[in-house]
Amino acid sequence: MTKQMKAEIIAVGSELLTPDRMDTNSLFLTEELNKLGIEVVRKSIVGDNRDYLSAAFKEALERVELVIASGGLGPTEDDVTRETVADLLSRKLHLHQEILRYIEGRFRQLGREMPAVNVRQAMVPEGAEILENPRGSAPGLWLEDAGRFIALLPGPPRELKPMYQEQILPRLQRRGSSIRMFHRELRVAGMGESSVEQRIKAIYTRYAEVNTTILAAPGEIQIHLRVWTDDAAHAQKTLDEIVQGFEIALAERIFSRDGSSMEEVVAGLLTRNNSTISAAESCTGGLLAQRLTSIAGSSSYSSGTHSDERGR
Ligand code: ATP
Ligand code: MG
Repeated sequence: MTKQMKAEIIAVGSELLTPDRMDTNSLFLTEELNKLGIEVVRKSIVGDNRDYLSAAFKEALERVELVIASGGLGPTEDDVTRETVADLLSRKLHLHQEILRYIEGRFRQLGREMPAVNVRQAMVPEGAEILENPRGSAPGLWLEDAGRFIALLPGPPRELKPMYQEQILPRLQRRGSSIRMFHRELRVAGMGESSVEQRIKAIYTRYAEVNTTILAAPGEIQIHLRVWTDDAAHAQKTLDEIVQGFEIALAERIFSRDGSSMEEVVAGLLTRNNSTISAAESCTGGLLAQRLTSIAGSSSYSSGTHSDERGR
């Protein structure tokens, strides 16, 4: 199969809509999926609400072949992922005796009786494959429906990550395509976002197949180039061509061509030239020295600082 698989991720949990919690599962999943050449085209965060969740799954399944959800598999009333997806796909839920015995066993080990609500975690939609979860009580679920794949994974990252590695990854590898992502990153200093854009726009817009992103970060502008293809040689050639164009357009403003930071680039130059540096700072609270010494091994090129906070 050479057709590229596209994916969406749905993070389920009302706590993820508060200022206190971040959806980090989707970052992990995106990185892993990209390694397989699967592009994540959309992510959503949905609270523990059946209607919103059902709509999110329905829309995602209209757009992509792979939908991975995390969270909402717990035993309480507010964990609705299992029921919502079964409902949406018109699959009945069956009590899975083996899972029930496993959950009962976990409680017994803790010297406790299994609360009645935990029976919900042993309910399995018709035709679903069970993804065992030795690190928690809720198993994950894998469903195939009309040529699309749906993975329901537990929310806790320490359960989700190994479940992905052990049980989702092999399933996706079996359906693998030869499409891969090829990526370049350039970093530019001493210029604003719009001036960078002005100088390089005419170059990158010629390559429709390459996704170009210009990002402003503190003290620098990053340019990311991404292309998804099964033709590695062509991808490298195209990216080389664009980067060459950028080199001319931005000249000496490019300080990093491999994603390395300003600190790393400066450290590399000092080390290669056997030079040392010291900083005399005013009003920066030693910021420059702090950045210069933030790299492991910086003592070989950093020789002291002087900071004068009186601003003279
Ligand atoms: P459990 O069986 O443990 O109840 P669950 O699938 O219901 O599993 P949740 O109750 O939704 O999982 O979440 C459990 C924990 O995992 C919470 O602490 C939550 O903050 C964390 N968590 C859930 N989703 C995410 C996410 N997308 N990124 C990071 N942490 C998450
Ligand atoms: Mg939850």
